[in-house]
Amino acid sequence: MIHKRYPEDLAILGGPQLFDEIMHVGRPNIGDRERLLKRINDVLDRKWFTNRGPLVQEFERQLTEYLGVKHCIAMCNGTISLEIAIRALGMTGEVIIPANTFIATAHALQWQEITPVFCDINPSTNNIDQVKIEELITPRTSGIMGVHLWGHPCAVEEITEIACKNNLKLLFDAAHAFACTHNGKMIGNFGNAEIFSFHATKFINTFEGGAVVTNDDDLAKRIRLMKNFGFSGYDNVIYVGTNGKMSEISAAMGLTSLESLDEFIDVNYRNYKHYQSDLEEVPGLSIIRYDEKEKRNYQYIVVEVDEEVTRLTRDQIIQVLHAENILARRYFYPGCHRMEPYRSMFPHAGMLLPNTDMLLARVISFPTGTSIQIEDISKLCDLLRNTIEKGDEISERLNNMSNIQRLPEHVWL
Ligand SMILES: *Cc1c(COP(=O)(O)O)cnc(C)c1O
Repeated sequence: MIHKRYPEDLAILGGPQLFDEIMHVGRPNIGDRERLLKRINDVLDRKWFTNRGPLVQEFERQLTEYLGVKHCIAMCNGTISLEIAIRALGMTGEVIIPANTFIATAHALQWQEITPVFCDINPSTNNIDQVKIEELITPRTSGIMGVHLWGHPCAVEEITEIACKNNLKLLFDAAHAFACTHNGKMIGNFGNAEIFSFHATKFINTFEGGAVVTNDDDLAKRIRLMKNFGFSGYDNVIYVGTNGKMSEISAAMGLTSLESLDEFIDVNYRNYKHYQSDLEEVPGLSIIRYDEKEKRNYQYIVVEVDEEVTRLTRDQIIQVLHAENILARRYFYPGCHRMEPYRSMFPHAGMLLPNTDMLLARVISFPTGTSIQIEDISKLCDLLRNTIEKGDEISERLNNMSNIQRLPEHVWL
């Protein structure tokens, strides 16, 4: 193992890189390759590639069974799942959401000319602050969309009560929370509907994919129509719809992923515990903990930086890591409210989002998943410990550098 004892050992200050290959935050979990290839071969033999083929049907069936939910509509990605759920729920005007989320949460609304109204987060959960929702309700508000950030469920009961009391639709963006529970009940059963993403970087992947799950029969029916152009029969269109269908190849990957679900959780949990114990020895860094009494997928290793203690800024730590080929990320910096078009629409949104801004300035998301070895986590934490030990000196040297190497732009996408 390379020990980076002196500042000169750091790659950013001219030393050798700690890792030969880039360590990504979200490398896909693959599962049993042979079984995947067998399924793909069957798809080719069957020549039934899409339009609710047998694998998509089986994937939907397994999801409803696993989640204990009545309906699952698999789709081509999580964003379209959000857009269709929003539309099928009849949301209009304004919808209240957190800003500390992936941009798709806001875009799925704005795309259909519904204004996302950003609500601050509760610093103890990092999720939408239920206490601040009601003051944002106007006559134009039609709904609330909570996000179970990093797989930690929102304050579901309180938000449901607010939605009922004010006659608002309630949708949860559960893109991070597949296989998680809230008070013992699977995420997927709350609000009017919840959506999942099965993007390659998510816990369960279908290359690209997503799903809406709901216990509402009528809503499920509308969503099924909308994701298939509004076709209700061979030659009969009864709705304006779009194309949100999941392909058979995606379902082949989804079914294969589901078979390895327990194994993925075990690996993620092992990584999480390893980060947790190694980082305990690093002053100024604290891992955001999971509630181990509930089911969790442990897919996100998120660490808060206390710059007063580390003496390096959060961004300097990221610079140091990137130079070592560790592609740690600032999920979800700078926040939806600081990206277009929302930044121009609400130039002062930050004034109402102090807890959101504070969190966004403090967090780093670290690599985990089935492609990460335990030794890599030890090396990474060792690097952090040695770097922060000399925080003042390294910070000063970085400040004096004129041309810090930046990562190529494509790495950020
Ligand atoms: C990934 C993600 C989405 C979008 O899902 P895609 O499948 O990539 O379209 C939406 N919301 C959140 C919170 C996400 O992390």
